[in-house]
Amino acid sequence: MSLKISVIGTGYLGAVHAACMAELGHTVVGIDTDASKIEALAAGRSPIYEPGLPELLTSTGESGRLTWSTDISAAADADVHFVCVGTPQRAGEYAANTDYVFAAFTALAPHMKAGSIAVGKSTVPVGTVPRVLEAIRENVTDGIDARLVWNPEFLREGFAVKDTLTPDRFVYGVEGEFADADVEKLDEVYDKALAAGTPRLVTNYATAELVKVSANAFLATKISFINAMAEICEATGGDVLALADAIGHDERIGRKFLGAGVGFGGGCLPKDIRAFLARGEELGLPDSVAFLRGVDATNLRRRERVVTLVEGALGDVAGKPIAVLGAAFKPNSDDIRDSPALDVAERLVQLGADVRVHDPEALPVARANRPGPNYVDTVDEALDGAQIVLHLTEWKQYRELDPAEVATKVANKVVIDGRNALDGARWADAGFTVHSLGRPVVE
Ligand code: NAD
Repeated sequence: MSLKISVIGTGYLGAVHAACMAELGHTVVGIDTDASKIEALAAGRSPIYEPGLPELLTSTGESGRLTWSTDISAAADADVHFVCVGTPQRAGEYAANTDYVFAAFTALAPHMKAGSIAVGKSTVPVGTVPRVLEAIRENVTDGIDARLVWNPEFLREGFAVKDTLTPDRFVYGVEGEFADADVEKLDEVYDKALAAGTPRLVTNYATAELVKVSANAFLATKISFINAMAEICEATGGDVLALADAIGHDERIGRKFLGAGVGFGGGCLPKDIRAFLARGEELGLPDSVAFLRGVDATNLRRRERVVTLVEGALGDVAGKPIAVLGAAFKPNSDDIRDSPALDVAERLVQLGADVRVHDPEALPVARANRPGPNYVDTVDEALDGAQIVLHLTEWKQYRELDPAEVATKVANKVVIDGRNALDGARWADAGFTVHSLGRPVVE
């Protein structure tokens, strides 16, 4: 079934969603208030680094099924409108900023035609959706029904195309007199994945909102749990990697998301757990979400731990060259939001170090948004004369570095593996002292 679709907000989520909807055979218009993003997308260029997206933009652009606009009235013809705008942390607070969500739905509503549905994909605090429905109701044309589904998104950056085309599950939050018709309509959008057996769960609004934030709270908790164990290992001589392997064999626990290291970052997990903390407190349920304070604190302590290890190795870092490998919050993405690597780099800059940061994809966005460290285009420039090497984003090209070659470039053979991803024995053979998080030093 081919539908007309609008996607409002074409960032990390929306650009991929728009291209994937066109790939599924729908006719799609992507709309964003950021003219530079739309200009790039209309020219077939991806404004973000996301594997597989450039190819999709080219093929769906050539098919004529995917167009782009800065004008919300371009959505008027669509049967289904996906809203994918940002919900960042409010400056100076924990709460999520939902202003973009309300602005987008309010702007969209007068352009909704009879029978069309609005679908929210942004991550919002529980209790937001009924207010969004009210905003639509107040702004739709007389005689048009306000219809709203909340369909949270679970994609992972770096795997966003695959995750959008073949997700683990769909969640539809629906309520009211149009609920059944709304489910049917969204089923038409996702018919291919549903036919392939993707589970689809229909819930009320509050559950749909909560599925997303609780999933992220759980994942963040699992990471901070293993990082807390890393702290204990550091104090006791344990090895967190062996510990994670051993507990991960227990099927009730599982090995995934037990990667100890410098912790999580990005535009979702950190702000989502903080928004959940804020919302829990607003709801008068601070005790129910209090554990997330510890999750956040453990996560941030790992960044400090890297700085402490650097100072332990070098003493006063002022003026000393330090190679930082990685700026993105994770590999296969250029997303630097709340990046542990950049937080560590900036802290070392504050301490007066000569920090050279390399990243295979995130340098343009890092240079534009986080001035401070010295960003260098090649790994060699970062390594040249470095007193210490920090491996902070687990890009394949860093894992594949030949430590013997690195040894010829640096001034001092010390590496901190913030991702527990380097082959410590091999680096030690090349003469390096290898510090890992939660693991004994190897030399
Ligand atoms: P983003 O900042 O990359 O993109 C948001 C886009 O919305 C920007 O391009 C912005 O210009 C645009 N926008 C803002 N207001 C607008 C308006 N009124 N009309 C049209 N466009 C508007 O953010 P993102 O990472 O894509 O995240 C979007 C939402 O999806 C957030 O709620 C996030 O929590 C959620 N989410 C993100 C991911 C992810 O991996 N990035 C995964 C799942 C859910």
